[in-house]
Amino acid sequence: MSQAINQQLVERFEEFIEAYCENEIGVLLENYPKKQRSFNIDWGELYRFDPNMADDFIAYPDSVREAAKQALVNVGDLRYQTDDMLEKAHVRIYNLQELTEIREIRSKDVNTLVSIQGLIRKSTNVRPKVDVAAFECQRCATVTNVPQVRGYQEPFTCGGCERQGPFEIKFDRSTFSDTQTLLIQESPEGLRGGEQPQSIEIHIEDDISGIVSPGDRVVATGTLRLEQRKRGSEKLRVFDVYMEGISINSEDLEFENIEISEEDERIILELSKQEGLYDKMVGSVAPSIYGYEQEKLAIALQLFSGVTKHLPDSTRIRGNVHILLVGDPGTGKSQLLQYIRHIAPRSVYTSGRGSSSAGLTAAAVKDDFGGGQQWSLEAGALVLADKGIAAVDEIDKMRVEDRSAMHEALEQQTVSIAKAGINATLKCRCSLLGAANPKYGQYDSYESIGDQINLEPTLISRFDLIFRILDEANEELDEKIATHIIKTNYIGEQGTREKYTRSEGENSTELEQVIGEVKPEIEPNLFRKYIAYAKRNCFPVMSKEAQKEIKDFYVGLRSVREVGGPIPVTARKLEALIRLAEASAKVRLSDVVEKEDAKRVIELVRSSLEKIGIDPETGIFDATVIEMGKSRNQFDRVKIIRSIIEKLMGENPMDGAPILDIIERAKESGIDDTQTEHMIKKMKESGEIYEPSAGHYKLLKGR
Ligand code: ADP
Ligand code: MG
Repeated sequence: MSQAINQQLVERFEEFIEAYCENEIGVLLENYPKKQRSFNIDWGELYRFDPNMADDFIAYPDSVREAAKQALVNVGDLRYQTDDMLEKAHVRIYNLQELTEIREIRSKDVNTLVSIQGLIRKSTNVRPKVDVAAFECQRCATVTNVPQVRGYQEPFTCGGCERQGPFEIKFDRSTFSDTQTLLIQESPEGLRGGEQPQSIEIHIEDDISGIVSPGDRVVATGTLRLEQRKRGSEKLRVFDVYMEGISINSEDLEFENIEISEEDERIILELSKQEGLYDKMVGSVAPSIYGYEQEKLAIALQLFSGVTKHLPDSTRIRGNVHILLVGDPGTGKSQLLQYIRHIAPRSVYTSGRGSSSAGLTAAAVKDDFGGGQQWSLEAGALVLADKGIAAVDEIDKMRVEDRSAMHEALEQQTVSIAKAGINATLKCRCSLLGAANPKYGQYDSYESIGDQINLEPTLISRFDLIFRILDEANEELDEKIATHIIKTNYIGEQGTREKYTRSEGENSTELEQVIGEVKPEIEPNLFRKYIAYAKRNCFPVMSKEAQKEIKDFYVGLRSVREVGGPIPVTARKLEALIRLAEASAKVRLSDVVEKEDAKRVIELVRSSLEKIGIDPETGIFDATVIEMGKSRNQFDRVKIIRSIIEKLMGENPMDGAPILDIIERAKESGIDDTQTEHMIKKMKESGEIYEPSAGHYKLLKGR
């Protein structure tokens, strides 16, 4: 820093500023120093002005930045009579031509200027840092100013009495600036399948602190620095790399990484007019998984998502569709979820337990990040998936902290954190595709969904579509799935062989034919572009016919209700229908939601409701099963059996209620043997009753 400034360079920068930055300097002066203390230079412009200078900025950022700063002060003085006022301004450079991958940072890059692109994963609070510390000598009261460069430094001797203190820092006479530490992580879409994202710490100062939050997508430009590792007090030969941030630019563009050429556009438009488009979409979601046409259609619609509505009263209705797959193990749920990242323009795959301390939503965590034990804010999976899809496997295993935060995350699409002095609201405008396994291993058709998975009914009701996936033994289906899996594996085997031996398969034509059967109908790369194109260009509005279709269906659902019976579906389902219908229109790149869209999604919602909502015993459509977690019949049965046990306990105070008597009396109340046995088993499992002696049951008191 103390190197002599290259005067020639300063002059060149003066010319550059005068020629290119008139606007920028005007804005700075207008807002200086309260609102803005940064003078921003577009690297691309500098390159146009003088390529060598621009390259030097990258190779020797410290000295070149110093020269630029001097030039700024000079121009300010000469042209605007700022009288060294700009001394405290910062020259910030942005828009480097090349982006460096975080995982490709090497020791040769240290001390050079790089730009990295990624997601803010974690941030500390903005904290003051002392720049010039004023020390008062406790013997003679003289104040000595010490500029703080590396670490915290007291003066060696007092400027007045020349003794060695003791000194006391005077806050009111010292100068401070704001600082913040961020952790930036590679964007998930840049990763090759399954790689763990890498990250780097960035230290930023003054007016650029506190402007980004976890979950934001940014391009950060700065100088790479080293910090020596230590083991206890021993210094090691190994260093950590961090970035001294010079500029942070938020990227709010949704699909900046997906380029659509004119040729692409032509192909997309052509595809959108093809017959059987929806089947093609279904055939392009996880083709290696057999069946599940409804589920795959739902996922395809989710990829397109509905329209986010902004209402005149400034409320917002989400356009994102949330889907939950519940079912038996080994039915391909995880595989389906993992496939998403091949086709979603932006996606995060994680498991409910979460791989990070922030889990699914966000957390205030206390650790060594940013130096010393302190609190920082860390984004979880849903926040990182902002504007994309979060595929969360085993969502029933999510952390307790996430359970309460999920309600807000799914409906308002924000995550609020108020803990340990951190107050923040993070955005999570993502669609959630969740999968859950039943509590007791296998899905039980006698039980409502709310009882079978470890999720609150209020959370379950926030999913637009819920699919129950059963592992049913059915010879015909088994045969088909088996053929399909064997075929997929066979192709995989051939692929592996070809990759390692480069030998052409002898029966290539046969292989090609087989491949055709499990190949996605729309190639993933094109599918991604198609979705991005639809999201960029397509904002459908409901036609009158579609509105009527959906309204009739919804009102029809509500009217199934018996007098005094439970209320089926809530208005949430209505919004789900609208969202899905909009998505269906987007699939065709249509600006109008037509009747056919409404019909398509009504079919989908009906099948999803039927699968889980129909009371399996009465066959009556009883959607409270999903909306409230338990069907009324079940409520009633539990009540009846409890009262029977209670009565029998009175008659048999020692042993408790005998099972045979329970069954007999239940039968009198219209509950058959198997049902009673089943209920008893479940009540025992849940701890509502216990078995003090074989075949005898007692109610657990205090429940
Ligand atoms: P889950 O997550 O539901 O427990 P997985 O996704 O782990 O199940 O599936 C287990 C294996 O069975 C996977 O390798 C998957 O490919 C295969 N599999 C299950 N169901 C199907 C199916 N319908 N079609 C093709 N493969 C299937
Ligand atoms: Mg699984």
